[in-house]
Amino acid sequence: MSEKIKAGLAALKVIESWGVKQIYGLPAGSLNAEMDMLYEEQSNIDFIQVRHEEVGALAASMQPKFSGNIGVVLGSGGPGATHLMNGLYDAREDGVPMLAIIGTRPQRELNLDGFQELSQNPIYSDVSEYNVRVAYAEQLPKIIDRAIREAITKGGIATIEVPVDFGWEEIDNDSWYSSANGFRKPNKPPIDEKDIDKAVSLLEEAKRPVIYAGIGTRGHGEDVIALAEKLKAPIAVTGKNYDTFDFDYEGLIGSTWRVGWKSANEIIEEADTILFAGSDFPFAESTGIFDGKKFIQIDIDASRLGKRRSVDAAILGDAPEAIRMISDKIDQKEESSWYRACLANNKNWREYMNKLETKKEGELQAYQVFDAVNRHASEDAIYSIDVGNVTQQSVRHLHLTPKNLWRTSPKFATMGCGLPGALAAKLEFPDRQTWNLSGDGGFGMVMQDVVTFVQHKLPSIHIVFSNMMYGFIKREQEETNEHLFFGVDFTEPVDFAKIAEAQGANGYTINTIDEIDEVFAKAMEDEKAGQVVVIDAKITNEQPIPVEALRLDTKYYSEEEVKAYKDRFEAWDLKPFREFLEAEGLSSIKQ
Ligand code: FAD
Repeated sequence: MSEKIKAGLAALKVIESWGVKQIYGLPAGSLNAEMDMLYEEQSNIDFIQVRHEEVGALAASMQPKFSGNIGVVLGSGGPGATHLMNGLYDAREDGVPMLAIIGTRPQRELNLDGFQELSQNPIYSDVSEYNVRVAYAEQLPKIIDRAIREAITKGGIATIEVPVDFGWEEIDNDSWYSSANGFRKPNKPPIDEKDIDKAVSLLEEAKRPVIYAGIGTRGHGEDVIALAEKLKAPIAVTGKNYDTFDFDYEGLIGSTWRVGWKSANEIIEEADTILFAGSDFPFAESTGIFDGKKFIQIDIDASRLGKRRSVDAAILGDAPEAIRMISDKIDQKEESSWYRACLANNKNWREYMNKLETKKEGELQAYQVFDAVNRHASEDAIYSIDVGNVTQQSVRHLHLTPKNLWRTSPKFATMGCGLPGALAAKLEFPDRQTWNLSGDGGFGMVMQDVVTFVQHKLPSIHIVFSNMMYGFIKREQEETNEHLFFGVDFTEPVDFAKIAEAQGANGYTINTIDEIDEVFAKAMEDEKAGQVVVIDAKITNEQPIPVEALRLDTKYYSEEEVKAYKDRFEAWDLKPFREFLEAEGLSSIKQ
């Protein structure tokens, strides 16, 4: 007679076989069997109890962004499961694998409109690549195995609904297996040499080339730089790919549009040829920034070629490989007036950013806090960034290098992802310093889970940029709304340091520039001593400079408009790109 094993235990062993080290969630009646099994398996897999399912789901979504490993979360039937939604959509929008195990009534009580019973599969059908209810206990480990395989292969969500009694049922121990040992990553598509030649000829003809490096180039910044130096082209990145390059690389011109740099916005506008490598930039159509330019696209996914813009040359394949192939065929270019103008413009922008960061006087702004992070953080620090003004400021003022990891919710853009991301990052990389940088809006959504870091002994530093508003949206209202402003300001200040202290963390408040270093010194000591630190930085409610709506050029705006813009954003030394082009004997092609 075959040995027996509980179906839930076999399922957990399958999950472990795929390298999963932790499962996030909250217990519930419909998850009791899973909790029993997690108890039995606790030496092999950690249950990370959180205080809100959304935090668990966002941690499970952020985890593969930091490490590549699939994230797993539990949600109880009904409200626990619906609370997972934001994490599920965040993972889907970023194309990262995630498994959600959703509880439900025991098998014999299904379909009776019982307590917390929902018709769950339809709810999760849009977000999931694979979405089934387990039909009988013996199926449970097999379905879990398939779910993980599907999620990893497709870069998406698998949702499994499990009647609570199945987990306890005994099944034959030889009736299940894991397919993890047979899993192979698909080969990258071979690159067609003819496509490379077409791209090379367009780049040889280009007078004003720019490389636009998306996350398809992640981890291969050196290859991109090698091509850029040969071509004498600046490198723009997407607002998802900053840690591929060293912040100090002079040819890095940042990203375009709102979460971007002045340099990239202006330079792309004046460029004639874009090498769009491994990006699916979601603002391409709405901004029209690539209109009228030669467009060379490299993507590993055939369905993405031509998705955002019609292409003049398309290369199917791995971006770093294609870039190396292009580099081999491109002639070394002399430094051009275009390249010199780009670098001079970029230097002017960098000086602006630096001046804000290093201010010693005036009211506390986010910039000086970022400067402190740059000075105090360890070389390979991990940054989990929330959504809002803090996203924008992090791409401008965090001096990242490829040694860092910098992640957010870039496409779904859900507020409240910073803290769960830091949770996942610290669990994945316990020896690396981990920062959560959030605004007061995003932090306020998830702040109950500071105690989760305390409870699981996860030293980390959380900075709350308290500007008393939903700043990112407030700025949008300024552009579009008739009634300025509505629903975006906070009238009651929150003491985040006290909230942290009440949860067993160390809380500090910074009110002025000269308090920064003392607080950071203490925070770094605390973190080294294994403590959780929350720093509430009471910053001004000024908006960061809107580089997507520059008003610096008197050729297009009145003297008064330019002065008002410069005064508001402390941008007295910023010059429009046109001036740098003209200094090099080039004219602007801007309409
Ligand atoms: P993805 O969208 O993930 O696309 C990657 C592409 O590369 C895919 O097509 C994929 O098939 C392909 N690929 C993957 N691997 C390879 C490979 N090895 N070789 C070739 N191809 C490959 N970003 C900005 O740039 N500007 C903004 O103004 C901006 N605003 C934002 C505002 C907020 C509040 C937030 C939170 C984010 C913002 N972002 C912004 C981020 C933005 O929404 C997108 O997520 C980001 O621009 C997409 O980056 P990507 O194209 O590199 O990545």
